[in-house]
Amino acid sequence: MLKVFDYEKMPVVEIVNNILVDAAKRDASDIHFDPQEEYLKIRIRIDGDLKDYAEVPNTIKRNMITRIKIISGMNITESRLPQDGAIKTTIEDVNLDLRVSCLPTNLGEKIVIRILDYSMSQAGLETLGFSPSNFEKVARIISVPNGIILVTGATGTGKSTTVYSILQKLNREETNIITVEDPIEMNIEGINQVQVNSEIGLTFAASLRSILRQDPNVIMIGEIRDNETAQIAVRASITGHIVLSTIHTNNSLNTIERLLDMDVERYLLASALEGIISQKLARRLCPKCRKLRPTNEYEKELFKNVLNKDVNETYTNVGCEECTNGFKGRIPIHEVLVVTQTIKDAISNNVRKEELRKLVYTEDVTTMLQDGMEKVIEGETTFEEILKLIELDEDESTAGEDRSNLQNSIEFTKLSQEAAKATLNKLEEAEKKDRNEKSPTNSTSNNISNPAVNSPTSSSTTPSTSSTTNNTSTSTVTSPSTTAPTSSTINNISNSTVTSPNTATPPTNPIPIPPQPTINTNEKASQ
Ligand SMILES: [Zn+2]
Repeated sequence: MLKVFDYEKMPVVEIVNNILVDAAKRDASDIHFDPQEEYLKIRIRIDGDLKDYAEVPNTIKRNMITRIKIISGMNITESRLPQDGAIKTTIEDVNLDLRVSCLPTNLGEKIVIRILDYSMSQAGLETLGFSPSNFEKVARIISVPNGIILVTGATGTGKSTTVYSILQKLNREETNIITVEDPIEMNIEGINQVQVNSEIGLTFAASLRSILRQDPNVIMIGEIRDNETAQIAVRASITGHIVLSTIHTNNSLNTIERLLDMDVERYLLASALEGIISQKLARRLCPKCRKLRPTNEYEKELFKNVLNKDVNETYTNVGCEECTNGFKGRIPIHEVLVVTQTIKDAISNNVRKEELRKLVYTEDVTTMLQDGMEKVIEGETTFEEILKLIELDEDESTAGEDRSNLQNSIEFTKLSQEAAKATLNKLEEAEKKDRNEKSPTNSTSNNISNPAVNSPTSSSTTPSTSSTTNNTSTSTVTSPSTTAPTSSTINNISNSTVTSPNTATPPTNPIPIPPQPTINTNEKASQ
């Protein structure tokens, strides 16, 4: 329903204040003032969607735009060029921190006000909706002494919130943190923040060069947008600094490729890159009115494929007076990559994209599709919402084959499941051998899928035990010595194969191990 003001009697100052406070109270992220032929249309964005808010008659239009330009510190005599401004004030006990942008259009100046909300960033990293395993990985990534940590996602996916939360975690007495941002979205006590000003030549790259002379421990770069910034960021991180930044890509794999496209030297990137946190935002189901509904065949199959779970019911959105169409707020969907030595080696050795993809999507990685569907099971969001997010990736810069669509996500998930299956098979195999106290003997391998495996002194093969889904899960495993595998050998096996420090623990969603085919037992017995 449109909001109606008494434009005849109410002063424009009051109307503007009213709109700002009302939008903030409704948890809107943006307010748009769109000039039309007949009137000025006001829309507000809540939970990612724009909604009509009010229609201001043309008689008031000019005054209203001027008022906003005045309070945001813009030049009111300039109406032909775009301008940026900011408002920081308290109205009716509501603290407002607003970024204002003015763009001349053919019908007049369009103004967009971005409402900055610190409440999420201040609540702490623990409250950002990471799954327990992803949170553990983030904690591991940010505990490194130096290296580059990237948060990726499209515009408006909460990258800044994640970055600020990490900064607050790193913000300690003994640490010198300097940021270079455009714009500074939140002031953090104890941190030195630099606002980029390209008009006077204070670009990201120029600021960074000076910052390096200021003895920083942690450098936060608002966004890596150009080659020079990417190169300085990577160089800074290998000279003993933690560099934290965001980049406009949609997953771990794309991020690595984007940085290489930005002419960052392979060996430097390999040595610098420590972790990539990718995220998207899904609308959160309103806990008051959400309702269970049975899953259909397609959904059942996808849950089975992606999570190996039988899901017969999920929550759906209904709608009540406390929410919009059954949704209230948003939750992030994550993919967290800890860059292992194997991945570093692969980057510096310029392996084919397919190989890199396999190394990135090991069992240790929860894909965004998996993370999202877990959140559907938990009743945090809906199945449709996750599919919409995964399928409709509006990131034009990675259009084409790299577009992170559903097919790609399913493929990434398959890769991580194959890795998990292979590890489980190997553990099982090794345990079996351990029990039988048999020396491993050479046997033939069907397929070698992992180039990172050490050269064998003796090798054993995990037979392909799954008859249905894949024929690539088999990989060659080498035991490090000629002695029979012991429990420590088992650890070595799993580490060398899947390149993750905690692979000894079973994956969160273990895949049932099919029975070993009898032909294999005979083979072994005959040797
Ligand atoms: Zn509701």
